[in-house]
Amino acid sequence: MRYEHSAARSAELLRLALKKMIRQDAGLHPVSYAVWYEYVAGGNVALQADIDALLSKEKRLDDATTQALYDKHIADLDSRTALKLGTSVSLLAGRISESATVAGDHASRFGDRLESWKTSLTQPTNAVDRLTKGVRDILAGTAEMQDAIATLQTRLEESAHEAQQLRLEVARAREEALIDALTGLTNRKGFDLALAASLAEAKPEIPGPCLLMIDLDHFKTVNDSRGHLFGDRVLSDVGQILRANVKGQDTAARYGGEEFALILPRTPRGGALGLAEALRAIIHASEFRQKGDLHTPAGSISVSIGVADYLAGESASDLIARADHALYLAKTQGRNRVSLAPQQPFDTQGAVTPHD
Ligand code: GH3
Ligand code: MG
Ligand code: MG
Repeated sequence: MRYEHSAARSAELLRLALKKMIRQDAGLHPVSYAVWYEYVAGGNVALQADIDALLSKEKRLDDATTQALYDKHIADLDSRTALKLGTSVSLLAGRISESATVAGDHASRFGDRLESWKTSLTQPTNAVDRLTKGVRDILAGTAEMQDAIATLQTRLEESAHEAQQLRLEVARAREEALIDALTGLTNRKGFDLALAASLAEAKPEIPGPCLLMIDLDHFKTVNDSRGHLFGDRVLSDVGQILRANVKGQDTAARYGGEEFALILPRTPRGGALGLAEALRAIIHASEFRQKGDLHTPAGSISVSIGVADYLAGESASDLIARADHALYLAKTQGRNRVSLAPQQPFDTQGAVTPHD
């Protein structure tokens, strides 16, 4: 789970999000709330970076920008969750505001009573009677106020609890939205987030991060000769091999199709090359077959791997381009091998041809 805040912390996040929301030009609708909740909760690095960049230009976020941020960074919540989230937030806000209105009405009626008591005390006749009646009125008014405040308090506590539940649902939906269904690995969107996070924490005195791009060799032929289902099985098994061979800090992702990527934070180039070579050998030595099918001969698979070591200051797309170029070299040099990207900025205008 990405966020494990207490009920009190999530209520605090609700407060912080509202504080930010009201400073923008956009309406106070569920889309705004989702964007700012994500922002103050932390963890959505890409969203935070985009918002910080906009705010640094002293921009106030309008509806269109807020919607664009939502679409880019949050809309991968499945639509039912998003709808539920929006409705629940509206209900929550409605209930808090209703209770606050009730408490406010009581306070204003109490004020009126005090005012009329003050006026009546300035009249000279029957001072004792009026005093007795006034004290009775004030005691009754105080009891009503106490009830209204207690109700408001209960509602706020309930709302904090509901906000916590909503937050957990959002976190769950987000996690599911970042997983590739076939392999169970992080999907492309999760890869983008993890890479941005690992570049954000990179420091010159710490090695890495390193990026491995891994592509199955001649996979079209595998599909053509053994069928698509067998191909899916291979992808899922390769996913398992990758997951089993990386450490907790690393991210194993399905980059797309038959291409995988590993992000290795705080890892020197030598370590990344060693892991790449080990993975290449494990995958090449593995026998792939359909579950329970012991009759059909097992298939043999190989991968080509490009390794790039992060250069201080380079963008995520430049790092990916260098790893991709190394992968291209591994392919052209015969496949089933590992190639290291040169330690110099990747010239996007250079003579690099995408591999076929
Ligand atoms: P190379 O060694 O140059 O990488 O050759 P290749 O055949 O692996 O590369 P190419 O890009 O020509 O073909 C990739 C193949 O991967 C074609 C596509 O059908 C297959 N593929 C991509 N995604 C999936 C998938 O989800 N399941 C299956 N079974 N096959 C997939
Ligand atoms: Mg391939
Ligand atoms: Mg490919």
